[in-house]
Amino acid sequence: MERLQKVIAHAGVTSRRKAEKLIEEGRVTVNKETVRELGTKVSPQKDTIEVDGVPIDKEEPVYFLFYKPKQVISAVKDDKGRKVVTDFFEEVEERIFPVGRLDYDTSGLLLLTNDGEFANVMMHPKSKVLKTYIAKVKGKPSKETLQKLQRGIHIDGKKTAPAQVRVKSANKKADASIIEIVIHEGRNQQVRKMFEAAGHPVKKLKREKYGYLTLGHLKPGEKRVLKPFEVKKLK
Ligand code: URA
Repeated sequence: MERLQKVIAHAGVTSRRKAEKLIEEGRVTVNKETVRELGTKVSPQKDTIEVDGVPIDKEEPVYFLFYKPKQVISAVKDDKGRKVVTDFFEEVEERIFPVGRLDYDTSGLLLLTNDGEFANVMMHPKSKVLKTYIAKVKGKPSKETLQKLQRGIHIDGKKTAPAQVRVKSANKKADASIIEIVIHEGRNQQVRKMFEAAGHPVKKLKREKYGYLTLGHLKPGEKRVLKPFEVKKLK
């Protein structure tokens, strides 16, 4: 949801300041109701917004599957001028944003959309979208440690929900292991904190799957449009 004056300004009707004036003058309707309050929240995709009885262009919802490279911020802008995910979408006119986030140093599957409602549903804890990560961690976790990670481990004072954990490989000297972990929560830096708490800090992290979606043949920095049935299946 976005502020009404911003949506009107973005649709190219007028400037933000003039959009505010139009609202105050009672010339703007949302779903046929006159709205005079500045800052009313609307959906640019779903609500019908009219200025003097003329609908502004609705933005069609779009959905992308992106292979985020490491050293990219999961945001639409960065104060420090670092690369952000939307830098990879310069040709896309819709105002897209990432669905949740991956750490600066985490690579892998990230969805981007302009559909705020879809993003909210995906990120809501109730949705329990499974997220599959491949972590390269220090050392070789014991069976007990793996069980602890599976059952739940305390991070930031709260136990994590049960997770699936599987060792994919450990190198000969056992100074590093590759582990697949599937979680449905989305706590801040959750996977890194879980392994840190288990005594096996993460050296490298990649998200391989989001729900049933995989990276497929994409390479870091590449993206593809999600097909409508793929979006439906996620919800
Ligand atoms: N867990 C993390 O620690 N980092 C991520 O980027 C995603 C999940």
